[in-house]
Amino acid sequence: MRLIVQKYGGTSVGTPDRICHVAQRILETHRQGCRVVAIVSAMAGVTDEFLRLAHAVSPQPTKRELDNLLATGEQGAAALTAMAVNALGGTAISMTGPQAGILTDHNHTRARISNVSPKQINDLLADDYIVIVAGFQGQTPEGETTTLGRGGSDLTAIALAGALNADVCQIFTDVDGVFTCDPRIVKEAEKLDEVAYDELLEMAGSGAKVMQSRAVEFAKKFGVEFEVRSSFKPDAGTVTREETPSMEDIVVRGISIDRHQAKLSIAGVHDKPGIAARIFSDIGAAHIIVDMIVQNASIDGTTDISFTIHEDELENARTILMPVLGQLGGKRLNTASGVAKLSIVGIGMRSHSGVAARMFECLGRAGINIQMVSTSEIKIAVIIDENEAERAARLIHSEFGLGRLLPVAAATHSLA
Ligand code: ADP
Ligand code: ASP
Ligand code: MG
Repeated sequence: MRLIVQKYGGTSVGTPDRICHVAQRILETHRQGCRVVAIVSAMAGVTDEFLRLAHAVSPQPTKRELDNLLATGEQGAAALTAMAVNALGGTAISMTGPQAGILTDHNHTRARISNVSPKQINDLLADDYIVIVAGFQGQTPEGETTTLGRGGSDLTAIALAGALNADVCQIFTDVDGVFTCDPRIVKEAEKLDEVAYDELLEMAGSGAKVMQSRAVEFAKKFGVEFEVRSSFKPDAGTVTREETPSMEDIVVRGISIDRHQAKLSIAGVHDKPGIAARIFSDIGAAHIIVDMIVQNASIDGTTDISFTIHEDELENARTILMPVLGQLGGKRLNTASGVAKLSIVGIGMRSHSGVAARMFECLGRAGINIQMVSTSEIKIAVIIDENEAERAARLIHSEFGLGRLLPVAAATHSLA
């Protein structure tokens, strides 16, 4: 008997009617002769509302208590979904993440999964139950509840699909699949039939929240193929898998935008060993996540170092750097919020030249200034003014023929 793991996101279980629709879908899959494990998110808005309440009663809520609070959102949705399945004549049982055997480290609110022991799920499946699991949560070896970071129900689904050796893993959401760009930003964006793990990893890591990036990382590591598809339509979605040679035929698979970034530049620091280490170890010790880092070529023994962080961390970073500026030899610390990172991603970039030039020309023609650039083998990312980000995404989308997904020969004719 085939085993199908399905995950339903917050919008998909956002109202009682939608929960009943999801229950119907789960039941249909079961009636087709499959064993079903369904992972659910909290109903839409519940996690945000809990966070709002937590900050209303405490300026800095204790992370342990936040986890105890947030985990209940998914638990409620799982219980409601199981009730709905039962009301339709099925036999479902709901479980919390800990009951489902999800063990994590101790990093409250951003815990990593260390082990999955799904014995209880397997026993229930053997007794022909439909199992509904609360996403986004696990427990430490000591039995403390933890959560897996925003979007973490995706990770629960991928980890369970891997541990249960599922035949199919489906991520049901409020769009038809993974698109060339967020369809809410670029209306011409098209659904992709397939995407490589590395491409989706880069897209998710640079702002495309359709999948949690840790979940994609986990899927790649354990070879879990999954399909992102609509919970409202019967249509096939986007399959994420290991790359195949034919995937290189498309130069740019997708575009993503990461908003709310801030840029810091330290001008005139000593160009000598240990300076960069000093800056970034101080920043790292404060748990500030650094994204892009650019160091200029040295002139007369000094250089400029620039980097980006989330804008919420800007004040924190300034407080750390200002007192040590003199020791670094730095002349000024310039900071700017209100910038965004725009990334183009595609494994086809490995084998095609001129992609960056074409992206920069497109932005230049539109009068959009590039403030920083970083590249990987399969990604080019630029920092631009946040107010220009959506216009830039639309222009680049059209420049690279996305939405029509031209093969390489047609897409690169004007490259240098
Ligand atoms: P869920 O609640 O089902 O987990 P999310 O809100 O986390 O859903 O993710 C789905 C959303 O991701 C979509 O509504 C869409 O606006 C956004 N998104 C961003 N980039 C993309 C993309 N490239 N393709 C599809 N959706 C995207
Ligand atoms: N409810 C959590 C969130 O809003 C987890 C999830 O939806 O995947 O981030
Ligand atoms: Mg999500």
